[in-house]
Amino acid sequence: MPTEEIPKLLRENAWQLTMYALGTALVAIVSCPLAILYLALSLASNIAYMAIVCPYCGHYGLGTCKAGFHLLSGGNFKPAPGKTFVQQFPIGAGIVGVGWFIPLIFAWISFMRGFSWLAAILLLAFLIVAFWILPKDSQRHCAECEMLDCPRYPKK
Ligand code: SF4
Repeated sequence: MPTEEIPKLLRENAWQLTMYALGTALVAIVSCPLAILYLALSLASNIAYMAIVCPYCGHYGLGTCKAGFHLLSGGNFKPAPGKTFVQQFPIGAGIVGVGWFIPLIFAWISFMRGFSWLAAILLLAFLIVAFWILPKDSQRHCAECEMLDCPRYPKK
């Protein structure tokens, strides 16, 4: 991957990385080894997304993915005949969604053990980033995308 692309990649994925950092911190309140596992699982889920969804997206082949997934994967994933973006997207979204929901389970476990301001602040920050800032950010990306039949943001 060209090194001059790294700042752009970090900028475009900054909120997602922030969410994973907050999620890791939330899980770490309960268990540090599980926090490392959460981080590894989140990264693996993104690689799975690249393999399952991205090859069926026009941006991947054209090298115009805003998130830079064509660069991160080295363009290595190829589409399988007979599969479409519309079919693949819900599978990939379900897999990558683990990064959004696992920290909520651990926040709940942490509160079952007792209230802590650290957990409360981390949870609030996580909720704001994961369920408000990130959806708004991807909506901005989606609005600029010309893919008409995208199940995430279908165009009229
Ligand atoms: S725009 Fe989305 S689906 Fe398309 S290559 Fe980028 S991350 Fe993958």
